[in-house]
Amino acid sequence: MRTRFIVGNWKMNKTASEGGAFVHRLSQELTHHAGIQIGLTPPFTALHAVREALGPASAFLLGAQNLYWEDKGAFTGEVSGTMLKDIGCQFVLVGHSERRQYFGDQDGWTNKKVLAALRHGLQPILCVGETLQDRESGQTDLVIQRQLRAGLSGIESQTLSTVTIAYEPVWAIGTGRAASPEQAVPVHRLIRKTLNELGGADIGNHVRILYGGSVTPHNIADFLASEEIDGALVGGACLDPVSFATLAKVA
Ligand code: PEP
Repeated sequence: MRTRFIVGNWKMNKTASEGGAFVHRLSQELTHHAGIQIGLTPPFTALHAVREALGPASAFLLGAQNLYWEDKGAFTGEVSGTMLKDIGCQFVLVGHSERRQYFGDQDGWTNKKVLAALRHGLQPILCVGETLQDRESGQTDLVIQRQLRAGLSGIESQTLSTVTIAYEPVWAIGTGRAASPEQAVPVHRLIRKTLNELGGADIGNHVRILYGGSVTPHNIADFLASEEIDGALVGGACLDPVSFATLAKVA
């Protein structure tokens, strides 16, 4: 059984104090969420405030939006797995399409980042997804397989089962144009098949695969109706605590 996982990706939104206030409101709205995991990825500058607001016993998981693969040193502007672990993060996004598109994150880098996260005991969520051009030219499967094979290279089978994958078609992110479950489910199946090829027989069945791209409280149930979809990576609809709590309650 794979536990459902709903992750709110704040992107470059919310100051530290806004983050703390968000958590207090979310905790009032969502007092009970047994059976599913809820994660938040505030910007680096709000991680401490959000950790404090959550408190040590919180059932909400704290994650970061990115990391650098070296542990420390002359890498101006970067943040390491050591630092994220120290501040109380439990997971980290790797290879979000905005990182790939605007900041040059390449497949080789996503691999180093996934390996660094695992080394520090942070659960990586590797994001993969095709552009509209890829989809329209029939390249979706090739792109997804390339991103998976590169990002997960060199990881042993047992460890592979602890990684989470987020399938996020680039054309669906922040556009209000979510993929339909009919479009998403075959890609989730392809991801599981590729994981089996990478890690051996049954690994794909142990790995959680989230869908991301314009998920809202109104369409989340349609995605979760498929047993292939284990949760969601949510951007826009996670910024308001009431909307995010509603979405989590539906999940
Ligand atoms: C995201 O940030 O990963 C995302 C899916 O954003 P949105 O929900 O706004 O499309």
